[in-house]
Amino acid sequence: MLKKLITFALLLFSVSVFAQLDHVEPTFWWIGMKNPHLQILVNGPEISKATVSLHYPGVQLTAVHKVASPNYLFLDLVIDSKIAKPGKFAIDFKANGKTVDTYAYELKARAKGSSQREGFSSADVIYLLMPDRFANGTTANDNIPSMLEKVNRSINYGRHGGDLLGMEEHVNYLKELGVTAVWSTPLLENNAPAYTYHGYAITNYYKIDPRFGSNEDYVHYVNECHQNGIKVIMDMVANHCGIDHWWMKDLPMPDWIHQFPTYTNTNWQMSTVADTHAANIDKKNFVDGWFDHSMPDLNQNNPYVLTYLIQNAIWWIEYSGINGIRMDTYPYCDKEPMAKWAKAIMTEYPHFNIVGETWAEETSQIAYWQKDDINPSHFNSNLPTVMDFVLLRALEKCFNDHKNGMSQIYNTLANDYLYANTNDLLVFVENHDTPRFNFLVKNNVDKYKMAMAYLMTTRGIPEIYYGTEIGMTGNKEVGDGDIRRDFPGGWANDTINAFTAAGRTPLQNEYFNYLAKLLHWRQHETVVQTGKLIHYIPQNDVYVYFRYNDKATVMVILNNNDTEQTLSTARFSQCIKNFKQGTDVETGKTYQLQSSLTIPKETALILELK
Ligand code: CA
Repeated sequence: MLKKLITFALLLFSVSVFAQLDHVEPTFWWIGMKNPHLQILVNGPEISKATVSLHYPGVQLTAVHKVASPNYLFLDLVIDSKIAKPGKFAIDFKANGKTVDTYAYELKARAKGSSQREGFSSADVIYLLMPDRFANGTTANDNIPSMLEKVNRSINYGRHGGDLLGMEEHVNYLKELGVTAVWSTPLLENNAPAYTYHGYAITNYYKIDPRFGSNEDYVHYVNECHQNGIKVIMDMVANHCGIDHWWMKDLPMPDWIHQFPTYTNTNWQMSTVADTHAANIDKKNFVDGWFDHSMPDLNQNNPYVLTYLIQNAIWWIEYSGINGIRMDTYPYCDKEPMAKWAKAIMTEYPHFNIVGETWAEETSQIAYWQKDDINPSHFNSNLPTVMDFVLLRALEKCFNDHKNGMSQIYNTLANDYLYANTNDLLVFVENHDTPRFNFLVKNNVDKYKMAMAYLMTTRGIPEIYYGTEIGMTGNKEVGDGDIRRDFPGGWANDTINAFTAAGRTPLQNEYFNYLAKLLHWRQHETVVQTGKLIHYIPQNDVYVYFRYNDKATVMVILNNNDTEQTLSTARFSQCIKNFKQGTDVETGKTYQLQSSLTIPKETALILELK
């Protein structure tokens, strides 16, 4: 009895010094990465008092870093891929010569061809959806005891229950529509009391939010997309975490995040980064200030934070098989470390693609963030793709202006010389943060068709926001919830199921069928994916441009005038050359090119020249 009591007391003592490890991240890793280095974050009560050892052929523990908090260690490993074999090895934590904890760390074999995966490109069209608002595959995960916010569809900023199963069940819908890539807003855990549906306040960087599904469910979803010829883009957030992230209660070190004596918001002035006249305080507050009270600003200049973010991105790429990353609020991060972040990923995966959210109102301000931009500070972001928000602004307005509408597009593209690569520009008429396009054009289907014809034939990588293809609308001014409405048919009791032709209204089918035809055509047209572009000064609000390469020429005519227009073709001889006629992609109607062309009001023609 006495012996039992002593054993119990000893157990109690050891537990009070070292409880179980709370977090080990990355949770596992791989053999055969180009970069042989790995840094493991270990978190647990008083873990810094332990000595650490491991014994595994090909794996060396080269450093153990103690930091400000006694509850963290950072372990530096070097993995020799020629020697190390896939498997698990023990990381031992000892105090006073006795093992107090052991973690079985796993090194996995890489999937075949993993490093050579194909990223998204201008050959693709991306479908952007919000998982919470797309389809509720199962109500079983709507309310989870450990997750603070429960489903409440009666409020437009509440959680509505959409999930990974709902996304997976409608991969065939995306295939039918004809998009070839899907970007969903973030899926990682956001365990906060309210306003969590958007996903941009992450509380665990290694875990899919259980209200969407599990990590395994995400892998399953990615595989399902790949089997249907659809690439997957993961939305990531390196600028900030959520205020409810587990490490906020006990930061590894004070400068893990940017801290101020009193709350300091970012000044939103993105131009300060490249501005040669900007004051230091403005530059500092732009990148170090918080995006929101609920979003602490991560310090990418801290090398532990940067390594954490690089490894986290690579972990998700390698684990889930994704083809691309959309990085949130890109310019709000510290730029030099983020250039290393992008380079590290593109070095591991040379054919991958990353698009940064570069929300600026000037072409020069966006071009600055693209890989190989030429600028006075010789800054190179290594970020392949940027978002063309200037073109977005033109497209939001131009179809409601029958005099100078087309000039807005023409003048925007006239600044393309500022971009290092115009194929790697995301082009879009809306996203989850901007007014619904169909709302801006007052549900005018002709304007929708012109906009879609334009997006699918201009330079860059088109992005479609979920629901636009069935005429969905929403007013940003009444709140973000209105531009993020539930997709009809995604919930069991929906009166309309827009996922099927039979379920759609005739008008919804008109929207859907127009875009679907265009998208399926575009899949095989390298001339509009990567061909050169020549455009003509708009006259009478008619915009004419050509996409061409060695094999084909496509002539696009957008008549944004509110009356029928007849064009003399002589002006376009540089591009028409000896072509005699053009066949419209949408209607199949053939037009003669010898003298003149007549085009109805508010109409787009996409002519394949013969
Ligand atoms: Ca659900």
